[in-house]
Amino acid sequence: MRRLVFFLLTTVLGAQAQAPAQAPPNTLARDMAGHVESARLRRTVERLAGFGTRHTLSITNSESRGIGAASKWLIAETRNLAMLPGSRLIPFEDRFTAPAGPRVPKPTEMVNVGVMLPSLDPSRAKDALVVAGHYDSRATDVMDADSDAPGSVDDASGVALVLEMAYVMAADHTAVSIYFVATVGEEQGLLGAAHLAARLKAEGVNVIGMLAADCVGNTWGPGNVRESSTVRLFSEGVPSQETEAQKKLREALGGENDSPSREFARYLKRFGERYADGLECLLMLRRDRVGRGGDHLAFNREGIPAARISETLENYDRQHQVPRVEGNRTYGDTPGFFDPGYCAKITREMVGAFHHLALAPEAPRNVRLSGAATPDARLSWTSPTDPRTAALVIYRRRADGVVWQQDMVIPVSDSTVLTGVGTDNFFFAVAARDRDGNESLPSVPTRIE
Ligand SMILES: [Zn+2]
Repeated sequence: MRRLVFFLLTTVLGAQAQAPAQAPPNTLARDMAGHVESARLRRTVERLAGFGTRHTLSITNSESRGIGAASKWLIAETRNLAMLPGSRLIPFEDRFTAPAGPRVPKPTEMVNVGVMLPSLDPSRAKDALVVAGHYDSRATDVMDADSDAPGSVDDASGVALVLEMAYVMAADHTAVSIYFVATVGEEQGLLGAAHLAARLKAEGVNVIGMLAADCVGNTWGPGNVRESSTVRLFSEGVPSQETEAQKKLREALGGENDSPSREFARYLKRFGERYADGLECLLMLRRDRVGRGGDHLAFNREGIPAARISETLENYDRQHQVPRVEGNRTYGDTPGFFDPGYCAKITREMVGAFHHLALAPEAPRNVRLSGAATPDARLSWTSPTDPRTAALVIYRRRADGVVWQQDMVIPVSDSTVLTGVGTDNFFFAVAARDRDGNESLPSVPTRIE
């Protein structure tokens, strides 16, 4: 960990409500995003690839090879992050014994490694965000713990993003906590993420959004097609955990595209894209790639909003392949194919989005929609009591739209009438904004009146 200019951080907590205004450009988020360095991302990836294999079942008694050496290095890195000047980060280890299962022949000790940036707002002490990359890797055979499996893009790139976010956000004055985590056992069945999600839930931590950064460094697709101007955000449309009442409401509203996970993904796109030039987030309307999964799904299974960010073009000669040459084809996820400039752009966007969300006031609650079969949509809600709320934002998009298309800033209140806007042709949501433009996740209607 090297030089880092620490910026003057003024606390936004306790700021009083102001007249509504358009969100100004956020210089603090821009400063932090500007400190993301591709050279540091590259070093992290090279270091992790240097452990030969990081298969979850690989050796633990070596200082230089295997999952044990990798986890020890990560633990040392998290301590370094906590020692940075001005750092508020607290290192943690989430250690557990995974029982025998389909991809784990016998009970095995595993550890998630991370740092936590604690909440500075006592009324939000239990609210948190999570960003995770998995530090384990795999070879061609998912049970092969001995062959080389450098896992540079999958997923040393995600771990590098997570550590870099923690590095530049180390002194950020967040209202909610942020967990920056390198998870274990992803390739053996999302074991680390599942353990962490269950543990946070059991400890009463309310995760308002979890992001899995998995494969965020490849720009050479099959057939040597290059793509570095887009990145994909995957999220579930229909929650995997849904009560009968929630299902009824979803059916009544047509809410298949408005799950909490989808709103989280929209938020990451909306706020993230301000912080890197030339990187569009593609809001993918599916929970993951076809027939495949990742750590975000383990959080979804606990009912937690979660999304996955991944490069737009994956390269199947790299992923899940023992490094080798066959004829004129090179296989293997080696560090030379990691594109640090691309990963840096993705990291900058997520730093910006996480900063906004982590400083935002609490979201409005109990949003109610009425006005069906009339020309005007009426929205009402329980106004946030958070004293930092300076304005509310009414979002709407046409019913064939993917992202929010219009935002209307209104003073703090508890209802509004959208004259001439029919309920059937639009979707609506309400968010809370502070005077610095930090915005909550938008709340969609949970009742029709
Ligand atoms: Zn992966």
